[in-house]
Amino acid sequence: MPHDHADHDHLSPSGHPYRKDQDAPLTHWQQMEIALRELLIDKGVTTAGEIQNQINAMDSRSPANGAAVVARAWTDPAFKAALLADASAATREMGFDIGPMNLIAVENTQAAHNMIVCTLCSCYPRNLLGLPPDWYKSRAYRARTVKEPRAVLAEFGVTLPDGMTVRVHDSTADMRYIVLPARPKGTEGMDADGLAALVTRDSMIGTGLPLAP
Ligand code: FE
Repeated sequence: MPHDHADHDHLSPSGHPYRKDQDAPLTHWQQMEIALRELLIDKGVTTAGEIQNQINAMDSRSPANGAAVVARAWTDPAFKAALLADASAATREMGFDIGPMNLIAVENTQAAHNMIVCTLCSCYPRNLLGLPPDWYKSRAYRARTVKEPRAVLAEFGVTLPDGMTVRVHDSTADMRYIVLPARPKGTEGMDADGLAALVTRDSMIGTGLPLAP
């Protein structure tokens, strides 16, 4: 964590600088959020408890949801076909509702590798992956992934064969993507639970590959 010289006088017992308190004035949008939230509660439109429950539900989503979907697609050909035909409906059937948005599953094959990005902001299949990592929202990832995807992949430690096509999918407010990675070699005897443990978050964004068994 970056720190300035003033912090050197304030070290914790372990020798690390204490994290600074975030005492900066609220931004315009933070003030707007508080004002709107308090008004909605005052007017009886919602309650603090309902808002907190929604925050808890959002925080409880994790890449384990997506991993369960991928593992099922690897083991159940009918589900895989349904997922590739209509990912919103197929994942809703598993209990992962993306709401009114369209979800598209893109399949990695020996010929093509897929990556997802939101060049505008941070659109992400949160029902399957939880909150996006900071790098996914960074200007560098958003700008570079569409211009030099192989260079970005190399920085994630992924090197693809020369002849493989790389397809980059730009997400929008109402269109989200999930990568269906290729099932790793040597997993023929594994069941869906074992396979799900090999499916990393990054393999469903396309910046990684599934783990080897
Ligand atoms: Fe976005």
